[in-house]
Amino acid sequence: MSELLPNHLAGRWQTGGGPGTPLFDPVLGTELVRVSNAGLDLEAAYAYARDEGGAALRALTYAQRAGLLSGIVDVLKANRDRYFDIALANSGTTRQDSAVDIDGAIFTLGQYARWGASLGGTHWLPDGETVPLAKDGAFRSRHVQVPTRGLALFINAFNFPAWGLWEKAAPALLSGVPVVAKPATATAWLTQAMVADVIAAGILPAGALSVVCGSAQGLLSPLQPFDVVSFTGSAETASAIRSHDAVVRRSVRVNIEADSLNSALLLPDAQPGSEAFDLLVREVVREMTVKSGQKCTAIRRIFVPASCYAAAGEAIAAKLSRITVGNPRNETVRMGALASRQQWESVRAGTAALRRHADVLHDGSAAPLVDADPAVAACVGPTLLGAGRREAACIVHDTEVFGPVATLLPYDGWSDALAQIRLGQGSLVASLYTADTARAADAALALADSHGRVHVVTPEVAAVHTGHGNVMPMSLHGGPGRAGGGEELGGLRALGFYHRRAAVQAAAAVTDLLDGTAPEGVPGH
Ligand code: NAP
Repeated sequence: MSELLPNHLAGRWQTGGGPGTPLFDPVLGTELVRVSNAGLDLEAAYAYARDEGGAALRALTYAQRAGLLSGIVDVLKANRDRYFDIALANSGTTRQDSAVDIDGAIFTLGQYARWGASLGGTHWLPDGETVPLAKDGAFRSRHVQVPTRGLALFINAFNFPAWGLWEKAAPALLSGVPVVAKPATATAWLTQAMVADVIAAGILPAGALSVVCGSAQGLLSPLQPFDVVSFTGSAETASAIRSHDAVVRRSVRVNIEADSLNSALLLPDAQPGSEAFDLLVREVVREMTVKSGQKCTAIRRIFVPASCYAAAGEAIAAKLSRITVGNPRNETVRMGALASRQQWESVRAGTAALRRHADVLHDGSAAPLVDADPAVAACVGPTLLGAGRREAACIVHDTEVFGPVATLLPYDGWSDALAQIRLGQGSLVASLYTADTARAADAALALADSHGRVHVVTPEVAAVHTGHGNVMPMSLHGGPGRAGGGEELGGLRALGFYHRRAAVQAAAAVTDLLDGTAPEGVPGH
């Protein structure tokens, strides 16, 4: 049997009971490692994280905690090659796709280290202006933000075992809040390995960072009122978390990042042959194939003026037909595997459901695999569908296939495009392609209430835009409605989730001490 990975809980490595759950190579089908947390005392582990890790982190200033993040960056950089090996084995991703996860994590941590340093030597954050409560201003109200004295539990999805951990841990640790990470079982190895390296380097105070691998059972019950949960995964699990006793009765704060039918929209000025049209085609193909379409932000629906429908379908299909699929150990392979054979089955079932209502413009289901056994490997080629018949398209706005699959849809005028996009019921991101900057700004505002991010691609940013699906730490990540209603990142905005805002009502002599200009602020512990 393969190695059973230990969990880091209550400041020490602990091995769960039983044989554990095996993790597999999704290309070769071989067993890699196993995970288990059976029989471990999560209540004691959470108490240790709050009492030891939380207290030690809060004793530090923001700038000192930013220094910890820099230390983590150094450790991850030093071990980077091994992370690529683990990603190749356990996620079946090409080197480029692994970099999206691993280098994305390192970049995000580095950003928070820089932003944190700018917060300086205080232990809490001022919030807004002081306002008078009495006529003569002798009695005032001022708001402050202080780190919550609970822990941050991260329940993560399988597609970003590195970035998914650190994009959440960076703002949490910077805020002074200890982290307990529960990676998705299928790809937990990379998360566990990164935590192990950071623990071994002795950068963080004891209890500041824990990892629990394996079953999610019993994860939420020991949560206390000042704890927070940040969840990334399916809408179904999200609703189980939202209705859990700890959330309902103890008001545990929850952030949800769930599934999303993200859109790409070609504005009417961008006819075939225009630069904006070509930019849309390029971006759609990239989004469908990077990480085999296993990005929560990937383009799932492509809206084009009805007059461009045929040309867009042909142009995207032509590029997709050149994508090589299979074993990422072969350098000619552009697109590796899905995360597991289970995901492969789910993608095939979802694609079959969509195909019943749409035309197939490019069929990747029978694509030949490079150096991979189709009976074993979780590999599948990209499929472009077309929903030219409006009445049949409802399912397209409702079914997220978490793989290299997208659907092209025609629209008749701007209001029709907007109405169709809104059928997705709230998404993480929409991207616009146009050369008309005034129209782009109007369209961005019209989409802003139903999307966490609007990505506008005009010809002048062709070479520099960061990509529809790339989540940059400077920008908000999250979306309303179906996307979960959550908010992550967005620079220092992310710290808000890990802080509690309170109003202090007092004499001016007191509120003056709380305006954030005092050099050492008020001790946070
Ligand atoms: P999932 O089944 O909901 O699993 C997500 C996480 O929840 C895993 O760690 C899982 O653990 C855990 N979990 C399962 N049941 C639980 C329960 N009852 N209580 C608490 N935790 C539980 O989602 P998935 O299928 O792995 O992920 C794919 C989905 O995630 C897609 O729909 C995708 O759109 C979404 N996603 C969203 C974002 C975003 O940022 N918005 C990012 C990535 C993915 P186990 O693995 O041990 O079951």
